[in-house]
Amino acid sequence: MRVLLKLSGEALGGGDGRGLEPAGLAPLALEIREFMDAGGELGIVVGGGNLVRGAALAEAGSDRVTADHIGTLGTIMNGLAMAEVLKQHGLKTRVFSSVAVAGIAEGYQRDAAVAALAEGTVCFFTGGTGNPLFTTDTAACLRGIEVQADLVLKATKVDGVYSADPNRDATATRFDELTYNEVLSRGLAVMDLPAIWLCQDHGMPLVVFDMTTPGGLARIVRGEPVGTRIAAE
Ligand code: UDP
Repeated sequence: MRVLLKLSGEALGGGDGRGLEPAGLAPLALEIREFMDAGGELGIVVGGGNLVRGAALAEAGSDRVTADHIGTLGTIMNGLAMAEVLKQHGLKTRVFSSVAVAGIAEGYQRDAAVAALAEGTVCFFTGGTGNPLFTTDTAACLRGIEVQADLVLKATKVDGVYSADPNRDATATRFDELTYNEVLSRGLAVMDLPAIWLCQDHGMPLVVFDMTTPGGLARIVRGEPVGTRIAAE
């Protein structure tokens, strides 16, 4: 099974989700190692919210496009950091970037990525979509569709999509399955709209799951139900 995993930048941050704490990445690396040992193929898009979100810089007065360029650079730092930790756990990695950072990361090339995934190399797709005004959720869905992943996995700290924020609303209920149209019509905060639209247009299933519960990633490669699955039907 080929999976495109979207990790938010917060997963790489310290206790408050800010900054870059490579020492804290070992639990994530163990999950990924278990997934690869179970025969999975994995591409990863890492966000950058632990370092910079373009929208926040723009609110503080920066030009939005420049702010997003800064945010994009953060995703490359995160991908490089995460790849280093995976290497320390015995995994083969390649770091691609959608924007040119010669000498630091390889330029993204779809066919090279597909070949690397097929031979068991964990591929990082950094630099977002390569454009401002997008997010790494959209980049994850875009790359997932391009490399013909079986599904896009969005890692969160809760075990799926709920009718409301379960941390704030005790009556919130969890969905096992949703359609793209239900996500859109209920305004559920799963991913941003371009990401959902891309998946809907190209029939790419999305699974939202809790990456903080050990073994979740490996359960997915074994075909066991995990989190909330979003598809056409
Ligand atoms: N970004 C961008 N284009 C993209 C992806 C990301 O400009 O295609 C910038 C944008 O400023 C964004 C930041 O990179 O706020 C970090 O990405 P994101 O907010 O998606 O990170 P996450 O919330 O997943 O950690």
